[in-house]
Amino acid sequence: MTAPRLDVDLDRIEHNARSLVDRLAERGISVTGVTKAGLGSAAIANAMLRGGVSALGDSRIENIEALRCEQVATRMTLIRSPMLSQAERVVRSAETSFNTELSVLTRLSGAACRAGRTHEVVLMVELGDLREGIMPADLEDMVRAVLCLPNIILLGIGTNLACQGGVAPDADNMAELSALAESIEQTFGIHLRLISGGNSANLDWVLSDTDTGRVNHLRLGEAILLGCEPLARQPITGLYTDAITLVAEVIESKTKPAQPWGRIAQAPSRQCQGKHP
Ligand SMILES: *Cc1c(COP(=O)(O)O)cnc(C)c1O
Repeated sequence: MTAPRLDVDLDRIEHNARSLVDRLAERGISVTGVTKAGLGSAAIANAMLRGGVSALGDSRIENIEALRCEQVATRMTLIRSPMLSQAERVVRSAETSFNTELSVLTRLSGAACRAGRTHEVVLMVELGDLREGIMPADLEDMVRAVLCLPNIILLGIGTNLACQGGVAPDADNMAELSALAESIEQTFGIHLRLISGGNSANLDWVLSDTDTGRVNHLRLGEAILLGCEPLARQPITGLYTDAITLVAEVIESKTKPAQPWGRIAQAPSRQCQGKHP
């Protein structure tokens, strides 16, 4: 077999998924398995599904299309805003997408109408991490606009933390998400089916906090694949941390000085690291 390579133990991925799905089910939280690290690998996606995740999500439409091609049978969500140019493909391959811009939502609506389909959307709310999301003060206007879009179904709201700014999910920002959901429901007399609290970084909060409010959904990739939570990179009890192994052959092993010597110019491995001390 070639090296370097990743050895993936699908039974361990299945176990990790099942363990998390079971623990979260006790709190009324369903899990979408996030497949982006597998670049559309049907084997990994199916292991997550065997472990009980209720759907799959990916940040690239190419990966979702690859999973469809491999006949992976489940609901799929594009877990970031579609590009404007991808609206048709998104409506064709994903039941649901995460959204933050009315221009994109309008495009999705047009694409869904032409395809004779409906498309579900989750509106992402900015809660401090500054990666994506509608500002809370603008959410009501956005919901009002989305409810008027033909062939678009508002599935719920969500947020994504600990991804860009490193802002940890906690009782405060999760309570804010729940409060936003309730206020939207009251204002518009609707029921939001999905309140998606976040990613693997939410596990600390969700497994320790007894009150998870309205949050009833998480999107988990890293925790299933690596068995760790990403905030402090600690192993999660009961999960395998070795489902994926990097296998490489050692091609040189010697004792050498710690610093290079000679005239220092550009080198491929130094280009992004700034000046040598
Ligand atoms: C990648 C991603 C996830 C999953 O994150 P993990 O840390 O792998 O669990 C969840 N939500 C969004 C929006 C993502 O982009």
